[in-house]
Amino acid sequence: MLRPASYGMAKWIEPGADARAVHGPVTGALIARAGGAPLDVQGMLDWARTVGGPALRAMGFHDRARLIKALAVYLGARKEELYAINPLTGATRRDGGIDIDGGIGTMMVIASKGRREMPDGQVYVDGPAEGLSRGGTFIGQHIAVPLQGVAVLINAFNFPVWGMLEKLAPAILAGMPVIVKPATQTCYLTEACFRMIVESGILPEGAVQLVIGGTGDMLDRLGAQDVVSFTGSAETALHLRTNPALMRNSVRFHAEQDSLNATILGPDVRAGSVAFEAFIKEAANEITTKAGQKCTAIRRIIVPQSAMDAVSEALMARLAATTVGDPAAEGVRMGALASAAQKADVLDKLAALAGETRRLTGNPEAVDLIGAGPDGAFLAPTLLCCDDPDAARAVHELEAFGPVSTLMPYRDTDHAAALANRGGGSLVASLVTDDPQVARQVTLASAAWHGRLYINGASSAVEATGHGAPLPHMVHGGPGRAGGGEELGGVRGVLHYMQRTAVQGSPDVIAAITGQWQPGATEIKGPQHPFQRTFNEIEIGETLHTKPREVTLEDIAHFAEFTGDTFYAHMDEDAARANPFFPGRVAHGYLLLSFAAGLFVQPDPGPVLANTGLNELSFQKPVSPGDSIKVRLTCKRKTRRTGSYGEVAWNVTLTNPEGEQVAQYELLTMVAYTR
Ligand code: NDP
Repeated sequence: MLRPASYGMAKWIEPGADARAVHGPVTGALIARAGGAPLDVQGMLDWARTVGGPALRAMGFHDRARLIKALAVYLGARKEELYAINPLTGATRRDGGIDIDGGIGTMMVIASKGRREMPDGQVYVDGPAEGLSRGGTFIGQHIAVPLQGVAVLINAFNFPVWGMLEKLAPAILAGMPVIVKPATQTCYLTEACFRMIVESGILPEGAVQLVIGGTGDMLDRLGAQDVVSFTGSAETALHLRTNPALMRNSVRFHAEQDSLNATILGPDVRAGSVAFEAFIKEAANEITTKAGQKCTAIRRIIVPQSAMDAVSEALMARLAATTVGDPAAEGVRMGALASAAQKADVLDKLAALAGETRRLTGNPEAVDLIGAGPDGAFLAPTLLCCDDPDAARAVHELEAFGPVSTLMPYRDTDHAAALANRGGGSLVASLVTDDPQVARQVTLASAAWHGRLYINGASSAVEATGHGAPLPHMVHGGPGRAGGGEELGGVRGVLHYMQRTAVQGSPDVIAAITGQWQPGATEIKGPQHPFQRTFNEIEIGETLHTKPREVTLEDIAHFAEFTGDTFYAHMDEDAARANPFFPGRVAHGYLLLSFAAGLFVQPDPGPVLANTGLNELSFQKPVSPGDSIKVRLTCKRKTRRTGSYGEVAWNVTLTNPEGEQVAQYELLTMVAYTR
């Protein structure tokens, strides 16, 4: 008997006398007792806000990203313990892969995005500075900082591990402590993973807590700096989001709820083609993976009228080959639903859909089971057909959260998109086509209704990531019925746990806040050439001004000859003059860059190891033969990397004798920490 415990204020809290009995879906036997213990809800909130939050916020994004990566590695090393429990939820090992390895992989990507795309500091810089004054003494900068409250993460039963980790990683990276509340039906698997997080000792005290069972009046106690991230049914979402405390305090509420996801077969796709096979494979996968209990599963299969027979035959053949039974048994492709209640709910929904559909497959309850008896929550993969999807309502509104999908015909692509949109807002819609124009047409007609559009065809079939797979890089969530929330999407998902603030002030003020030098901020003269300074020595704002160098006509001709770039603006005076951009022959932009390097580089061996790139290069004014240029090189930003060196970004400007800027860029170099 499993007894998953809550974890609050650094203590495990065993199930209480009122613990809920959890019956396993495979045999119906009692497998766990969960919750029922009194929790000090206010104490947990305070613990997160006063212990976890400050500890997380004392670190920078990269520090927290390192912790998340370390945690992912730790969980990866112990994942077989989770796979051992996974079949109790009704899931096969393959299903568990999406949940367990999927969750760990998501953490890895979030950690790596944090290191690569967020600053090595405590303030996220959102976009470039805005010039707000003629003289440049007053500028604006959008920043984002972690909210100072707690993130309450409420998850559905279907992904006990991924559901926790895909919310936890962005929140922790942002700098917010979390309280995880898994769905009771599968909470023992979440608890096993959570216990590993605690045992790893990687996260600071107070960063994570766990509620098994009810949350009591926790939501009534949330305030302006807190966040609720919810996945589950539309009904619960509505109940929770209308909590007066949440509304009064404008508590951010992200919901990911029911979704009538659709897939469309493009009008160009012929039966038997690579794209057609990809379509059938994806549709069948979405019906059977996790026994259809995926928020992204395909509920509506929208195909050209002329392809209805071919699609139904091919799909039925695939579904007929799906083996169902004990998820731990050899050869089983599809396991059980999460509970007897979930099975009953799906059967109810099937009954409600019966008025608008005909069943193409047999009795969903008459299924040959491998290694399982009649008491389990098993259903056969079930394909319905709706001949008049325009008149139908239930097929577009009722989510049978199991291995059920409805096939329906369309007339043209606009009709197909309109049917997909009838779901009232979904997490994902897919389209299989080999015609990019069909893809464009469907996208314009329906992107506004779906959080993600997944377009596959012959050229991408081998590598496409799957209709139903939310990826940490891509936004997960959808409008309307899907909850109106958004998760993941790389750094976008992290920003949900942060406050965006517009800061206005002098360049020095903005530089001090962001830790990044801004044009107009104070320049520092270092004791040596900046390229002789180690990563640890060089200061933000340290600046080198070079002497000028004249650019001659011979230089331009030589550069053209040497590189082969004999574009007329550099070589032909008359043609250049006729060009509205140039006064006559001008220097190549690349020649200016090369001369700039020649001016600012210090050639001796030193801590600067390599030039790794240029960002935001712009050529702002032409340079004519006889003009001279000089360079200002300023240390703008430093980013620590693993190993023995970090990245130093330099703001570089080239100016002409009139003091006008002719070019600007950000130069990236790798610089050793020490000599
Ligand atoms: P619920 O909406 O019932 O529960 C989701 C989460 O909310 C669970 O952790 C649940 O905890 C919690 N919860 C419920 N009531 C409260 C409350 N008053 N205060 C705080 N937390 C609360 O969804 P289920 O997971 O039970 O699934 C029910 C249906 O939702 C499915 O049949 C399916 O139709 C749909 N669903 C849709 C998903 C999607 O993303 N499209 C994902 C999962 C489900 P507890 O378990 O303890 O009640």
